Amino acid sequence: CGIVGFTGETQAAPILLDGLEKLEYRGYDSAGLAVYDGKKINVAKAVGHLEVLYNQTHGGSTLPGTCGIGHTRWATHGEPSVCNAHPHTNKDKTIAVVHNGIIENYLYYKKYLMKKGYEFVSDTDTEVIVHLLDYYYKGNPLETITTVLSRLEGSYALGILFADCPGEIFAARKDSPLIVGAAENAGFIASDVPAILKYTRTVYYLQNEEIAHLKGGEIHFYNIDGDEVQKEPRKIDWDI
Ligand code: GLU
Repeated sequence: CGIVGFTGETQAAPILLDGLEKLEYRGYDSAGLAVYDGKKINVAKAVGHLEVLYNQTHGGSTLPGTCGIGHTRWATHGEPSVCNAHPHTNKDKTIAVVHNGIIENYLYYKKYLMKKGYEFVSDTDTEVIVHLLDYYYKGNPLETITTVLSRLEGSYALGILFADCPGEIFAARKDSPLIVGAAENAGFIASDVPAILKYTRTVYYLQNEEIAHLKGGEIHFYNIDGDEVQKEPRKIDWDI
């Protein structure tokens, strides 16, 4: 399973597909992409080999835009299917989430949100995250993310897009790996270094319960209380 995200000045989808291919060694049963096209978030998903997603999106060209997130799924909750594949979105497709890991208390929040009128379209644990973000979102993504993360039990590496924040990616992790890469006027997230090594050697290692906010070349880090934290980048000096 794997996560890749890119925001910059070139097309995101081909970079996401390329990065996911580098993470294939981690194993997966399905894959998907979400790319912001300047107006809305568009999603493509496919079961099976990455090649299916590649062909379905014509190498990513059916998903234009310079900011996006990609995912390969190793199903833990819900069978491998298009519906259960990530990214997951809220009803009006203004928030998209990719997740690696397991949300242990998802059933509690699934029932809670269903009582509030939320409709679930997948059998995944992940889908509660996107609906919780929708439920708590009042215009401040960082505040919303800290609120939601403090309610989740289990493990997560997350990539999140808000349609309200063009060109921006939010990321967080707890007990599942996630790194952040920095290049000139571009930012990356990935489960592992090989996914982005072609584009940058400047990498930040996210610690448990840290949040990253990528906005073009600008990257800020926060703790789960929403306080900004300073992190030092590391230079990767090895090759794949
Ligand atoms: N638990 C999530 C699911 O089953 C994420 C699985 C993964 O790590 O790929 O959809």
